[in-house]
Amino acid sequence: MVKRVYICEQEDYMCEECGLVYHSLETALRCENYCRKHNACSLTITKNAAHAPQAPAI
Ligand SMILES: [Zn+2]
Repeated sequence: MVKRVYICEQEDYMCEECGLVYHSLETALRCENYCRKHNACSLTITKNAAHAPQAPAI
């Protein structure tokens, strides 16, 4: 499940599969679904990431 995190004093959402953080919950969910299904990230989704992964797992 997407994790709620606070970076730069703003609510963010983290994909638990790859650790990328998004400002939009919808995008984070899309990333997580994609990561889980394909065991890889989608560039079209990850380019919308707001923050780099905290624990690199890609
Ligand atoms: Zn992901």
